[in-house]
Amino acid sequence: MADCLFCRIRDGEIPAAITHRDDDVLAFKDVNPRAPFHQLVIPARHIASLADAQPADAEILGKLMLTGARLAREAGFAQPGFRVVMNAGPDAGQTVFHVHLHVLAGRTLSWPPG
Ligand code: AMP
Ligand code: ZN
Repeated sequence: MADCLFCRIRDGEIPAAITHRDDDVLAFKDVNPRAPFHQLVIPARHIASLADAQPADAEILGKLMLTGARLAREAGFAQPGFRVVMNAGPDAGQTVFHVHLHVLAGRTLSWPPG
């Protein structure tokens, strides 16, 4: 998707602080962090929203979770804890329409989210 911000980050057209890349997923620091640790994990392949996900996307969606958990664990947040969030659609606050898993840690996170 030529006009997708996260496809452009994937393709190196827009700089980002990339923390992990493999054939399937990319992770990078959120440019506007909402916690001391705030990274986004995205599928390399463009999927606009979790609302559009299909059974064939099960493996990649699982890989987003496992990658997010590994990044949080490697940064030392397994025990104090971390949160993964995926906003789907405007009411949930999704602003970038390329699926992304937020991984947040480093402070006490309130519940429920706003
Ligand atoms: P959402 O509101 O769930 O769609 O989340 C989009 C996230 O992307 C927000 O937390 C933004 O701060 C983040 N973001 C927007 N532009 C960039 C960028 N160029 N690099 C890294 N993160 C970004
Ligand atoms: Zn995209």
